[in-house]
Amino acid sequence: MLEHVRLTDPHVSDIIRHELVRQQTVLEMIPSENIVSSAVLDAMGSVFTNKYSEGYPRKRYYGGNEYADQVEELAIARAKQLFGAEHVNVQSYSGSPANVAVYFGLLNFGDKVMGMALSEGGHLTHGHPVNFTGKAYHFVQYGVDPKTEMLDYDAIEKQVLQEKPKMIVCGATAYPRTIDFKRFAEMAEKVGAISFADIAHIAGLIVADAHPSPFPYFDVVTTTTHKTLRGPRSAIIMCKEKYASAIDKAVFPGLQGGPHDHTTAAKAVAFGEALKPEFKTYGQQIVKNAKALGEQLTAEGIRLVTGGTDNHLLLVDLRNQNVTGKQAETALDQAHITVNKNTIPYDPRKPFDPSGIRLGTPTLTSRGMKESEMKQVGQLMARAIKGWDKPAELAAVKSGVLDLCKQFPIYGDL
Ligand SMILES: *Cc1c(COP(=O)(O)O)cnc(C)c1O
Repeated sequence: MLEHVRLTDPHVSDIIRHELVRQQTVLEMIPSENIVSSAVLDAMGSVFTNKYSEGYPRKRYYGGNEYADQVEELAIARAKQLFGAEHVNVQSYSGSPANVAVYFGLLNFGDKVMGMALSEGGHLTHGHPVNFTGKAYHFVQYGVDPKTEMLDYDAIEKQVLQEKPKMIVCGATAYPRTIDFKRFAEMAEKVGAISFADIAHIAGLIVADAHPSPFPYFDVVTTTTHKTLRGPRSAIIMCKEKYASAIDKAVFPGLQGGPHDHTTAAKAVAFGEALKPEFKTYGQQIVKNAKALGEQLTAEGIRLVTGGTDNHLLLVDLRNQNVTGKQAETALDQAHITVNKNTIPYDPRKPFDPSGIRLGTPTLTSRGMKESEMKQVGQLMARAIKGWDKPAELAAVKSGVLDLCKQFPIYGDL
């Protein structure tokens, strides 16, 4: 790795090497992160970064695109096969611009859209007031039930019938339970709204049959490619044929210039990996691991929002632990467990120091860990949370973490 950077720019190469060692020696438990294969890394670092290919395969504005066409068509064909989509655009730079392209392509500014509130598990691009989407469109937000902390489909349907939005967005960034896509699509149909599912977090689980799919019900589906799908940092947009031309025009020339062909090549590689039978086992293991981790944390007296998980993600409510989300994040960091502080539904505290932390199992599962390791991780984590202000406790947890990391190496031995 990195031989050329090391030769010509030792400063940058040192920084990258430190980041590699950091990744090798922490339990990375941020649920939106993952560890890509060396094949995906190679494709991302390939000569396709040199190419300009504005336009779409066989309809480009620049010459020399015979291989860029091939790699883009291959990524599209594999994505269609993975998800059963009618049309796929693989040019979006990342999840947020993919979502903006959907609104820009299918709505007029000011149109009414319903999306899940960020504070209850939705994403910034589902209409948060500080986000472009919240400023450009008239978003009405829905959330979770205060008692169950889960989506209440009857209540949302009532809101939909009352508001009659032009589009309904579903999908989440901090929701530990199954999303009933079929029900959302039925609500949208009742008011003639466009149905839009953002499966950024759970795409890999859907591919593995570990979460129900929004296909064939939904009009439009976006996903990042770097979360549970375990590909490069990017996104794709999938839609019914009747929206294909509007979506393609919104991406280019509506929002973007040249696509990142090196990332497209890496997406093709990642989709090839996800098409293999082993990926189904992988995706299902992510969920088994999350459940095992949740059971251990619960046994340690730590409360999970909604009481458990159906997917890759757990939201921990720290209110009974005498520690805030920010303090827990810092303590776990010292013990080499990486998580993020997160609001819990109806959080009495502020987003910068909320009452919860969010964790997930995709990265640990990519390292090969299974249920028995999750038990250990849960014990280590609980010890760090309870001993958050005791350096000796955090040091003991760190040594257990380093032990586990050594047993499950990534990108070569330590
Ligand atoms: C991560 C995420 C995104 C945004 O992806 P970026 O690549 O970070 O822009 C969009 N929607 C949801 C639900 C996400 O979880």
